[in-house]
Amino acid sequence: MSHLDPERLALVAVGEPLTDAEQEHVATCDVCSIELAELEHTVAVGRSTMTLGELETPPERVWDRILDEVRSPQPAASEVGAPAPAGSPPPSAAPADAPPVADEQPKRRGGLRGGRMLFALAASIAAVLAIVGVWSFVRAPQSVEIASATLAAFPDHPGAAGTAQVIELSDGERTLTVNVEDFDESDGFREVWLITADASALVSLGELDGKKGTFVVPADVDLRDYVLVDISQEPLDGDPTHSGDSIVRGQLEFS
Ligand SMILES: [Zn+2]
Repeated sequence: MSHLDPERLALVAVGEPLTDAEQEHVATCDVCSIELAELEHTVAVGRSTMTLGELETPPERVWDRILDEVRSPQPAASEVGAPAPAGSPPPSAAPADAPPVADEQPKRRGGLRGGRMLFALAASIAAVLAIVGVWSFVRAPQSVEIASATLAAFPDHPGAAGTAQVIELSDGERTLTVNVEDFDESDGFREVWLITADASALVSLGELDGKKGTFVVPADVDLRDYVLVDISQEPLDGDPTHSGDSIVRGQLEFS
């Protein structure tokens, strides 16, 4: 795996989770881990200044690095070449407005690494300004549907039908939501199961109260094995095993 994309690092710095592959890379790559640490620091500064309502002056070394980057391609331009007095960075040199020098001249002195740094800095500061303010207010966990199933009736329960959706939350937890229609809510109760394709193993997710329910899928259950969603009619006999009386069943299709 090559180094992580600077834009990606910036997003990670503002809170996006690393994928397993990225985590593995960062753990073994000094370049990326240092870059990420620097971006996280930038984000921390950004967050703290959001509450103050104004931006702090970035550390001197950050300005030095930006100025170095800006100057290096134009050594003849004397107006750019003059060193800025310490402690007074030019107000027009706001990083978010800086042109994408790195993209235009990837092979100039300073090399890809410098370009990456400049771009990452600009991207991270822009991302902080654009995202962080909103982020903390709208920080709903990201969830995505990873599988779904259509549940078909068993002969003993004609007319029954249902659907199932598996949602994965940003923290990796998976939930199964089932909807069932047109079944006889008679004696006993309904129970939701995940069953392997060859029916050699099954796991109960819990009792279905009413026609809709959401259940946490145990972390150790591999849905590629437990592909069948089953809702059974269970008698009140104290027996925790499947009654054998399925109402609907369907196979998960992965997104
Ligand atoms: Zn790397």
